[in-house]
Amino acid sequence: MAAYTSDEEVDKSYTRLRATFLSGKTKSIAWRKWQLKQVWWLVNDNKQQLLDALHTDLNKHNYESFFTECTGVLNDVLDHLEHIEVWTKPKHPEGSLVMNYLMGATLSPEPRGLVLIIGPWNFPISLILQPLVAAITAGCTVLLKPSEMARASQACLEELIPRYLDNDAIRVITGGPAETTRLLQRQYDHIFFTGSPGVGRHIALAAAKHLTPTVLELGGQGPSVVTASADIDFAAKSIVSTKYINAGQICLAVNHVLAHPSIAAKLVERMQYHLKQFDLDGSKAMTKIINRKNFDRLKSAIEASNGTVVYGGVADAEALNIRPTILTDVKATDPIMNDEIFGPICPILIATTAEAIQSINSKPHPLAIYIFSHNQKEIDEIIASTISGGVTVNDTLLHSAVPGAPFGGVGESGYGAYHGAYGFTEFSHIRIISQPGRLVRSFFSLRFPPYSKQDLNK
Ligand code: NAD
Repeated sequence: MAAYTSDEEVDKSYTRLRATFLSGKTKSIAWRKWQLKQVWWLVNDNKQQLLDALHTDLNKHNYESFFTECTGVLNDVLDHLEHIEVWTKPKHPEGSLVMNYLMGATLSPEPRGLVLIIGPWNFPISLILQPLVAAITAGCTVLLKPSEMARASQACLEELIPRYLDNDAIRVITGGPAETTRLLQRQYDHIFFTGSPGVGRHIALAAAKHLTPTVLELGGQGPSVVTASADIDFAAKSIVSTKYINAGQICLAVNHVLAHPSIAAKLVERMQYHLKQFDLDGSKAMTKIINRKNFDRLKSAIEASNGTVVYGGVADAEALNIRPTILTDVKATDPIMNDEIFGPICPILIATTAEAIQSINSKPHPLAIYIFSHNQKEIDEIIASTISGGVTVNDTLLHSAVPGAPFGGVGESGYGAYHGAYGFTEFSHIRIISQPGRLVRSFFSLRFPPYSKQDLNK
């Protein structure tokens, strides 16, 4: 097992990044653009190395890896390069132009400083590089802590980041929970964490000690509501794709389905049909479960379930592969409904629209809700009666791909957001700078005591 970064090396990196930020180097727009381009080249030049690492860590098919791990980073770089001049330009506050002029008021987006980015294992490359892109655009110095569970991907980042990016300003360090706990004792100007709600709580507590602003991108039990008016065949296909891609180890995956009684049987039949089509390449093409602990957790969840396995249920411990599994006859009180599944198991619960709303509201706010319906009144009602990070109607995942839209959770699924300008803003502090002219200063001199000299009736 490769050694983690030593505390001495972490110290050195921390000191270097603090000094670089104070030097003002990362505030230059030219530096930011150069580093953004370097992220692009890092991914583009080393595509095969990254895909190989993802195959080692997760048995991911090259196509799936490129689609889910590379395209988002490449697109983000292009988007940030296109908008950096506009986003970084100081603006005037909303309100009277005359007052803005007289007050000499500008809103200046300034980099927060030294930021810590902690990533998960399920998308071990993109969930480090995409927040990094936003931090670079904002002009921060960055300490990156990839997940120790995806070892080959972590090794790739350890090797490529120093080769492509400015080592004075961007560093990778490695470690597990113990090392990360120590890392969090230091003070940062911002922390960006992607991971589970449980660990998110540790991060928030550590951040609170230094009053550090934090983004928590967490997971949860995202439901899909399939109503009587839905296109059942497409709903089935879209839902099972989130259980097949990355073996369902996706924060935005459908955790469980709330199916209207009138269409539930047809939905289950179509889900089986589409899974058979997806699975033509067999287990070799499917992402594996990250490790034995998670494999055992998922296998036990199927075994302990009171539901009926109508598809899949087969688990190969040697390959850490669990076939996509559909469970019917599941009740809200079944153990599988206690936590985020984060694997290729799809429980189907029967629920009318009113019951579906009630079910969603009985659980912590999810990262996403997926509504399949062709009745706009019903769609509006579900959206108005629930809370979630985002919503996609008549498909899954796509709200996270809307250019320029925020991506983030609410409540138990996290706080803060990124993607596009939202990421830039998250890593920036909007500083109000007022340089009032003589006229304004003389007007506001009214505030100076002694008050006995002022007459309210004048
Ligand atoms: P995790 O919370 O176990 O680990 C995330 C990171 O935290 C890793 O780098 C890990 O080293 C570190 N860590 C683990 N335990 C720690 C501790 N006690 N103290 C400090 N640091 C610690 O999450 P994971 O298993 O890597 O990822 C799966 C979770 O992440 C799921 O809940 C999923 O929904 C969520 N997720 C959310 C998003 C999103 O964008 N909202 C994206 C991907 C994954």
